[in-house]
Amino acid sequence: MRLPLACLAILSLSAAAPATYPPIASMVSAVDATRLQRTDETLVAFGTRNDFSETSSTATHGVFGARDWIVAQFHTIAASSGGRMSVTLDTYVQPKTPRTPRAVTESSVIATLRGDDSSRLYIMSSHYDDCDGHCTDGAGVAPGADDNGSGVAAVLEAARVMAATPFRGTIVFACFDGEELGLWGSDHYARELAKAGAPVLAVLNNDIIANSTGGDGSHEPDVIRVFSQAIPAGARIDRTNLVGSENDSPSRELSRFVAETVPAYVPDFTVRQIFRADRFLRGGDQESFQDAGFAAAIRFVEAHENFAHQHQDVRIAGGIQYGDLPQFNDWQYLARATAANVAALATLALGPAPPSQVTLVTDKLGYDSTLRWKPASGAVSYEIVWRATGAPQWEHAQDAGNATEATVKVSKDDFVLGVRSVDANGLRSPAVYPTAART
Ligand SMILES: [Zn+2]
Repeated sequence: MRLPLACLAILSLSAAAPATYPPIASMVSAVDATRLQRTDETLVAFGTRNDFSETSSTATHGVFGARDWIVAQFHTIAASSGGRMSVTLDTYVQPKTPRTPRAVTESSVIATLRGDDSSRLYIMSSHYDDCDGHCTDGAGVAPGADDNGSGVAAVLEAARVMAATPFRGTIVFACFDGEELGLWGSDHYARELAKAGAPVLAVLNNDIIANSTGGDGSHEPDVIRVFSQAIPAGARIDRTNLVGSENDSPSRELSRFVAETVPAYVPDFTVRQIFRADRFLRGGDQESFQDAGFAAAIRFVEAHENFAHQHQDVRIAGGIQYGDLPQFNDWQYLARATAANVAALATLALGPAPPSQVTLVTDKLGYDSTLRWKPASGAVSYEIVWRATGAPQWEHAQDAGNATEATVKVSKDDFVLGVRSVDANGLRSPAVYPTAART
């Protein structure tokens, strides 16, 4: 069905923040800075969460002491889920590598909150392992308060505030092992998901999200960075160039979705979109998902880092305190970062599925743009969104009703266009970038 242009209202997105949906607002407001602090300090109290402390771990010390405590937390949380949350370990033996002294057992904690629609899986992730200045030293003191006690605290807190709500999509809350030595835990888990054909629609990875003052004194307690990769693994560069999709990978659309959704629920908190896979010399578990073929994987990281507090032996040198200690975390900042995740994750999993098979009709030269798509579960209508090719964020939206084809009076040559779903509560899916089709 082709909708006449006169029926369609154009909305300028710069003038309209998305409306809040009360059930999501109530989950977001349940995020508790004091509980986040308690979780983080408990993780620090295990002394070290270095991979190589696994053989010397006890109930109160070492990486597997921390793992077992995380498992116990998820079991407590699961009690409020009406039987929908299950907790498992993804355990395997990582062989010795040129960088490591021996084989080591890796064990990631995976809590799955089952949704009604088995075709949609969303992941919020973190890593619970850590290291001091020597990442193969299982005997040293490695607090890991920010890297990445903060991410684990956020994942547990999000699970706590979301567990009682029935979602459309299934949500995995993951605390990976073995990140510091090579993204091992996430790599193992992502490959297992790929082998099983799991429908992973989004990965929100959280790693280093509690420090609001950089080592250079920069202080932005109201900003978090989201890193997103440009080109999915295996993409054909000739096709990417042909259709101009280099800034519209699934990760970029997820980043735009997060940047647009968060301010509606977390006032005075802004997502700074960084269009890059990760920081230089650094990496994160989102890369494991990218490599396994799950292209909508992004990373949250604090706006300003202090490198004296990451991967350092705890010591005072030259009057400077080194080490990843909890006193350097800003618990209110961590609460806002967690709230941002809850807002995005809940909107993804409660909202409509994105439209599929979205195509831009390129059968002839013309002055406007026609898009087609297949209906999405949970959607009551669709929106065409577009922006100038040099703009980072969607600038305009046009209601297409419940049609599966619409034409907008915008040149397909000059603008980037996408389609997103809208449900009965006004929740929107991330936009989908179209493939070009001559028919
Ligand atoms: Zn980390």
